[in-house]
Amino acid sequence: MPIKLLPSHLINQIAAGEVIDRPASVVKELIENALDAGATAITVDIEGGGEKLIRIIDDGCGIARAELMLALERHATSKIAKLDDLERVASMGFRGEALPSIASVAQLKLSSRTANEPHAWAVEAQGGQVSAPVPSAHPIGTRIEVRELFYSVPARRKFLKAERTELGHIDSALIGLSLARPDVEFKLTHNGKALRTLPKALDNDARLRRLKPLFGPEFVDHCLAIEGDSPGIALSGYLSAPTHSRSQPDQQYFYVNRRLVRDRLVSHAVRQAYQDVLFSGRHPAYVLYLEIPFDAVDVNVHPAKSEVRFRDSRMIHDYVYRSLKRALADTRPMLEPERASETSPAMAPQQYSWPMNSERSAYAAPALLSGLQALYGRQEEVREQPVQLPDAGSSLGPPLGFALAQLKGIYVLAENQHGLVLVDMHAAHERITLERMKRERLGAALSSQLLLVPLKLMVSEGEANLAQELNEALKDLGFEVDRHGPESLLVRRVPALLADLNIEKILRDVLAELKSVGQAASVQVHLDELLATMACHAAVRANRRLGIAEMNALLREMEQTARADQCNHGRPTWVALKIEDLDRLFLRGR
Ligand code: ADP
Ligand code: MG
Repeated sequence: MPIKLLPSHLINQIAAGEVIDRPASVVKELIENALDAGATAITVDIEGGGEKLIRIIDDGCGIARAELMLALERHATSKIAKLDDLERVASMGFRGEALPSIASVAQLKLSSRTANEPHAWAVEAQGGQVSAPVPSAHPIGTRIEVRELFYSVPARRKFLKAERTELGHIDSALIGLSLARPDVEFKLTHNGKALRTLPKALDNDARLRRLKPLFGPEFVDHCLAIEGDSPGIALSGYLSAPTHSRSQPDQQYFYVNRRLVRDRLVSHAVRQAYQDVLFSGRHPAYVLYLEIPFDAVDVNVHPAKSEVRFRDSRMIHDYVYRSLKRALADTRPMLEPERASETSPAMAPQQYSWPMNSERSAYAAPALLSGLQALYGRQEEVREQPVQLPDAGSSLGPPLGFALAQLKGIYVLAENQHGLVLVDMHAAHERITLERMKRERLGAALSSQLLLVPLKLMVSEGEANLAQELNEALKDLGFEVDRHGPESLLVRRVPALLADLNIEKILRDVLAELKSVGQAASVQVHLDELLATMACHAAVRANRRLGIAEMNALLREMEQTARADQCNHGRPTWVALKIEDLDRLFLRGR
């Protein structure tokens, strides 16, 4: 075939291949246009999963009669005029491709009115032909109707999924865009039935209310809000508490200057920040907004504009990582006096609901009852120890209260202002030890203790080589290890915090982990994991009897420790049962 210039209709259809791959992408592009036009309310009506009809109505600035036909031309845009503009794009669109692409694969009707015109004008596009504007009835703003999507491209049509699936994608697209613009009202209907109504949300409470149907009440009740602000960069939004992680990474929204993006670098930064508070295989939920100068990010790297490129990606990564890490470090037990009387579990990191109305309640209640009777039956014994009174300064006493007893060598039972606190000793201690090691590590190496008698350790030759190779890294962790023979090591110093423990087992674990990590350079990166391995060994094992004083010391230490609400694997370390919860359990005061 000789080389020919393609007809423009075909060029548009080819462009549509990239930008418009299903009804949801039409919805996305059209909502973006409405937002760019300054709309404050956007209605999306869908029929037949979007294949039959997509209608988007906005109250934006509208398109003047003279520009209506131009809007449907390829490379026609009102958003940029020169290269300079492209380098600091503030609008969602800028490529001038969406309308002509859509018009090339569907029937399109566009009605619009600006504030300067007495009435609206409408144009229609079909098969590459655009009709001249005719008067039409419409308030200020724009209405776009897209019918028979892909009618001219049967190949594409074949890829469309069931109506419900396509509708699901449309809904996701709408959610993705709406999260960036709480100041705009969104409505979605399907075949005449209202599916979603998201009213304007101008303050924090309203935003949380609007998030509720999208992220679920669990998220909204327990999320951490962040609001970061440094010169030239800001990160704000909501993230899930580690104890409310998800099995899927399905609720993760990251916006750069209000544009939803998928970005490996950013996801990595978030994952790292959660690393030592989340059980592996679990995923956080978040909706985060990064604001940076428009020229610090290139948005022209993806036809559907769902990816961006940062000019200084390292800086962005570190900023996101540090901001989130700081937010997550604040999740330690705290009393919130003003919320303490609500029935919402303000005290508990874990949602605690008693199955009062289900069949299970019949079994659950007596089990707990006998536990409590046993507990209070031994009250004398407990009271022998002088229970410290809360100091006069704080009328509420310490958040985690004072220890009453130990249950099965696993749980500490404590009493605070609001009721009963249950602490998983092992999980709590593990977290405390890890945080202590991390604090020590901040200075330089973990402090170490000389063994009176060096410990000889038989290992594989590989492990011995590794220990030799990574000697410096081991020193950082508080171990001094010498090569003793081809298959033996001599341990001279051990981390002070671990000195009383089974060093052999800990060192073997650390070596095994170093082996999987590989080189010395990555030890730094995996430091938290290594410390976590060590902390796990150091933690009080279940079944150790603790005295009241020891238990109180543990509680006080938890209150001082960052991230004390979860163990190193993201399990909660404590839960609270308020007096109201207990009253309900015993059907008291009803
Ligand atoms: P882009 O958004 O990249 O500029 P589009 O093809 O999506 O390209 O739209 C072309 C032009 O049509 C826009 O630049 C804008 O001027 C105008 N336009 C599209 N939709 C609307 C709308 N809902 N309200 C006002 N103007 C619109
Ligand atoms: Mg556009």
